[in-house]
Amino acid sequence: MAYLSKKIQAIEPYTAGDQPQGPCIKLNTNENPFPPSPRVQKAIEEQIPLLNLYPQIGAETLVAAIAQREGLPEGWVFAGNGSDEVLALCFPAFGDEDTPLRMPALTYSFYPVYATLFSLPYVRVPLRGLDIDVDGLLAGGNVILANPNAPTGRALSLDTLARMGRCLRDRGEVFIVDEAYIAFGGQSARPLLEELDNLLITRTLSKDHSLAGLRVGYALGHPQLIDGLRRAKDSFNSYPVDRLAIAAATAALQDEPYFAACRDAIVETREFFHEGMVALGFEPNPSCANFVFMRHPQVPGKRIYEALKARRVFVRRFDQPGIEDYLRISIGSRQDMETLLRLLKDCLPALRGQGKETVDP
Ligand code: PMP
Repeated sequence: MAYLSKKIQAIEPYTAGDQPQGPCIKLNTNENPFPPSPRVQKAIEEQIPLLNLYPQIGAETLVAAIAQREGLPEGWVFAGNGSDEVLALCFPAFGDEDTPLRMPALTYSFYPVYATLFSLPYVRVPLRGLDIDVDGLLAGGNVILANPNAPTGRALSLDTLARMGRCLRDRGEVFIVDEAYIAFGGQSARPLLEELDNLLITRTLSKDHSLAGLRVGYALGHPQLIDGLRRAKDSFNSYPVDRLAIAAATAALQDEPYFAACRDAIVETREFFHEGMVALGFEPNPSCANFVFMRHPQVPGKRIYEALKARRVFVRRFDQPGIEDYLRISIGSRQDMETLLRLLKDCLPALRGQGKETVDP
């Protein structure tokens, strides 16, 4: 540790979900079970002979495709290396040392890590049950939240987002809405963009466009906010979106029928899985995302998590007070979800019988 800065010694980095190798059922990082659009392969192949050349500085081709899809001018769009990078750049672009950034206490756990990395103050606002405390978030300072929220899968309405955005705008504060999962349910804040010059929406192609391995995310917002992101990017990495990513992401975004078919299949499988879990005695949260957050009232989450892991089924569990008994299960293929339901049906009686521990108070 002798050579490391005090900040890096002290920081608690974000822990990403396991990326197990070999045969398994992988339902722990909300990936899309379908391959990307067939157009992606050709788009990548065309770029290979050009890899000796740097890519476009502002990923202009991709930005134009996003702008067209959203009905926005190109100056309202920013593209980055995964939405993680876009979110990270929000911190130096909009954060100040004298104003805390407010975020729900239970949300995407990268936000507090970025705040720490950029030495910016933040406040984690406790939830009410599993719901976001909207007024608590509006107590002063910029706000960041995920809608639908992760890991709960619950979403705020457009009316609520409008109220929050207006309140923050009137105080000169920025409102960042992370829409990583918006394609699977919930109401996008997109209709508010023209009204609210303080609103920045971030999105990813990792989930809804089956491109987690490519690393492409983007932001939509007023050109002043987009310019802030550009200034932060150009102070860090001139070419965060490479040639293959620009071409492949553009091709995927232009294949709307394929996107819609995959999304619809995932939503349908989510509803099927939700019902199946209810029949097994679980308490799943109604979800607007491509995952379901749930617990079993009689079996500790850790026990289920470990039993599944032993059978090479990977789901996500957070060792965090209050949600330690919940599992977040990504929606995979119909076949994967049927296998999981069968496995749980087989092993739940034994797991229930192990000791007297109960989850409910
Ligand atoms: N936001 C949320 C809420 C997420 O769950 C994730 C995925 N871990 C991301 C952003 C980042 O996605 P990506 O970097 O793959 O675009």
